[in-house]
Amino acid sequence: MKHVIIGNGIAGVNAADTIRSLDPHADIVMIGDENFPPYSRPMICNVLEGSQNHINLPIRPKEYYREMAIEPAIGQRVDRLDIDAKRVRLSDGSWIGYDTVLIASGADPRPLKADGVHLDNIFYMRTESHVQQQVDALANARRALVLGGGLVGFKAAYGLLKRGLDVTMLITSAYPLSMQVDPPAGKWLLDELLAHGLQVQVDISVVGFNGNGSVRSAATDTGIEIPCDMVIIGKGVLPALSFVPKDRIEIDLGIVVDDHMQSSVPSVYAAGDAAESVDIARQTPWVNAIWPEAAAQGRIAGANMAGRPVTYPGSLSRNVMRVFDLDVMTMGYTDPEDTDEYRVFRSGSRSQNYYRSLVFRDDLLVGAVLINRIEQGGILRALIENRIPIGIPVQDLLSPSFNFSRLL
Ligand SMILES: Cc1cc2nc3c(=O)[nH]c(=O)nc-3n(C[C@H](O)[C@H](O)[C@H](O)COP(=O)(O)OP(=O)(O)OC[C@H]3O[C@@H](n4cnc5c(N)ncnc54)[C@H](O)[C@@H]3O)c2cc1C
Repeated sequence: MKHVIIGNGIAGVNAADTIRSLDPHADIVMIGDENFPPYSRPMICNVLEGSQNHINLPIRPKEYYREMAIEPAIGQRVDRLDIDAKRVRLSDGSWIGYDTVLIASGADPRPLKADGVHLDNIFYMRTESHVQQQVDALANARRALVLGGGLVGFKAAYGLLKRGLDVTMLITSAYPLSMQVDPPAGKWLLDELLAHGLQVQVDISVVGFNGNGSVRSAATDTGIEIPCDMVIIGKGVLPALSFVPKDRIEIDLGIVVDDHMQSSVPSVYAAGDAAESVDIARQTPWVNAIWPEAAAQGRIAGANMAGRPVTYPGSLSRNVMRVFDLDVMTMGYTDPEDTDEYRVFRSGSRSQNYYRSLVFRDDLLVGAVLINRIEQGGILRALIENRIPIGIPVQDLLSPSFNFSRLL
């Protein structure tokens, strides 16, 4: 069997490892367009803030491809997937045939449409090469602008602040991490950022940049001009699927996969940020673009490609982070709009120095936001993932001393 893996991120690498462990004789070709060994993408934030060295990013050694008998095509980009002939075309024009192919191409930053976006010192934040360029730009930068208040925007702003820059964060929504937390938690996080020296402006978007060669200021939709020497754009990501025939494979936002990570075309699998699987909390197809799900999906896809049927239970969005002096944990569906179908129960306050929000659909917990007192978060996650009905009054759960392990 010949397996072609497009993408050498965590999903691709875990798939290759799994295939090799199940089939020592399989042909495996791994294609990746970044000229760098497989690496920890979340850790590029630590390189920006200066707490990690670039050389610690790789998650596999230089000898990885040789040791695993993988044929590498690194520094090459797939520009076409021909599902009829079962082959992929590389940027040098050559074709590689396959019996199965894995789309593990991850995601690209959502492009910002704004005048002057191509000026120097305006960066996205996705790759080690982006962070290299950002670190190089630090020497001549005093004022930085971060666009986006999501996880990546927040980490970028934190890193730049640690480097001693004067940082302004511009957020289109009303509070940071709006995809992860609910409004009360978001407002608390906003105040925490402001209290620690980050200038945050909400309900605002950039419409253009000005500068002569390098960026010097950003113009906003509120009519103000903000001076800056560098900009990091963190406005979310989109699955990297430019080479995929969209009329032949079912795509929603990502490649729609079943519980074997198999797409609508049987020889084509997908995993990681490029794939859309069932979201356990929402019970609908969803792209949960997080590292642990990409890792798990890669392993499941690899096993199935190698002929060992293994099912994937679905994905769950989750994050644990330290926001200055606050421990924050989020999981599942945290801010539902339809309040008839979902019930949200909140407890805690700033004066009590903790906050807990639990989202239920019927008697199932489907989402949670915790600020401080996060130690029982693992149990909440197990309740969501295993869809365990909760048969006791919700008011009991809101007590800060409630022991959630009673429910497992
Ligand atoms: C700054 C940052 C911070 C993050 N922090 C967290 C965090 O704290 N927690 C968390 O859970 N997740 C975090 N994430 C998300 C996490 O990194 C991703 O979910 C994970 O890396 C996805 O892995 P993947 O293998 O699907 O894709 P990727 O890691 O994106 O790897 C895909 C690879 O395929 C390559 N590729 C794409 N198209 C082609 C093509 N046509 N031909 C050849 N190669 C191609 C890409 O260049 C890339 O090298 C963060 C992401 C970023 C950018």
